Amino acid sequence: MRVLKFGGTSVGSVASIRNVKSISCTGKDKKLLVLSAMSGVTNQLVSITKYITSGNLAGVSKLIGNLETKHFEVIDNLIQDELVQFETKKEISLILTELETVTKLEYSEEVNSRIVTSGERMLSCIFSKYLESCGIQNNLLDARDFMQVNNLENPDTALVSTLLENTLSSLPETDIYITQGFVRRDEHTKISTLRRGGSDYTATILGAALNAEEVQIWTDIDGFHNNDPRYVEKTHPIAELSFEEAAELAYFGAKILHPQTVSPVINKNIPVYLKNTFTPHLPGTRISGESTGQGLKAISAKDGITAIKIKSNRMLMAHGFLRKIFEVFDRNQTAIDMITTSEIAISLTIDDNRNLDKIIEEIGDYGEIIVERDHSIICLVGEGVIEDKKASRIFELLHDTSIRMISYGGSNNNISLLVATSNKINVLQKLHQKVFEVKPVYEYV
Ligand code: ADP
Ligand code: ASP
Ligand code: MG
Repeated sequence: MRVLKFGGTSVGSVASIRNVKSISCTGKDKKLLVLSAMSGVTNQLVSITKYITSGNLAGVSKLIGNLETKHFEVIDNLIQDELVQFETKKEISLILTELETVTKLEYSEEVNSRIVTSGERMLSCIFSKYLESCGIQNNLLDARDFMQVNNLENPDTALVSTLLENTLSSLPETDIYITQGFVRRDEHTKISTLRRGGSDYTATILGAALNAEEVQIWTDIDGFHNNDPRYVEKTHPIAELSFEEAAELAYFGAKILHPQTVSPVINKNIPVYLKNTFTPHLPGTRISGESTGQGLKAISAKDGITAIKIKSNRMLMAHGFLRKIFEVFDRNQTAIDMITTSEIAISLTIDDNRNLDKIIEEIGDYGEIIVERDHSIICLVGEGVIEDKKASRIFELLHDTSIRMISYGGSNNNISLLVATSNKINVLQKLHQKVFEVKPVYEYV
């Protein structure tokens, strides 16, 4: 079995949905297709949740109407058979009626999740019916029956496997199975999500649960690029990445992959391919357990970082001080990403501000605290990157760029820089030129 995930842009128009069909129906092996919502739909659903909380009920109805128009238009253009067209519209109407009912319930986390995950339900239904109208047998699976993910950081793929087997055993065998990305059930079996962009994670959780041969993530770009193409020109796709490299890049902000995508498949050594739905003949990127060569591979950036500096003349180097500081973060369930220290100060960064006030209150006893928000971590990633001469050129940035912290040597595979987010694009572009484009003089001699 192979798991193929198609992202929002891959299912964003009638033409691209036709591409998805031709990719999915090539080859004889069994496939599980994980589908996102059409591009833009989850954002509209998020807007619905905002309108509910601000009491704008007219806005809610208008957006539900827009969603109906958008999906009906796709059905009209995609499905020729009039009976199937009628049935499909009926099913979409049912999902939208349910959505409308849910918007009137008392607002809760689960109500929010039920709303924002409806886009995947609509699109997977349309795609299944479209294949059916083309004479391609398939089974549409409801992911809420088996995506039992109690712990977002550490999914129990054996449990998902058992539940999925139960679902599959009750259905006639087909070569194509279709399900929804993004949605999960939490530890209380309530509907929840795998966070934004979570369909990638659905695909690898299901890949691990099925012991799949491979997971393919189909998107709108020809693989993992060596820098963020939204901000930097002349980036290029990387042919091979190790699991560790991909995990590091995804965790540190590379939008092409949900941060946790590779973790479920590492132990099972299931390769993940990143491919472009619009140019399927191109090789894309292969992410696997194999070593993929030494040196710098790619740069990524993660926003929403807060830097916290703790200055203390008295206590910093006294033993036990760091432990006390770290315990505060631990008690407040907040992970630390970067750390630098000096004789009298420690600076560290977090990406989750939910408990920031409590943290500041608790560490206030140990010294003077300075908090700086709106920062970004820029990461240079690759096996043995710290040995790579190219990477050492980051220090050339220091004379005309403001860099708040540098972490070098903490791991062989990662060098991290902390910059103000307002300066991020500038640093990404300069770094790209220095490490990927300019050949320094000493390499010519
Ligand atoms: P999907 O809807 O298929 O999940 P996403 O928008 O989540 O697609 O991810 C693909 C986008 O990620 C690309 O269009 C690109 O703009 C962006 N991106 C950011 N960093 C990278 C990178 N290093 N390599 C490739 N794409 C990247
Ligand atoms: N549709 C969801 C989102 O936009 C999940 C995904 O696309 O992976 O976040
Ligand atoms: Mg995505």
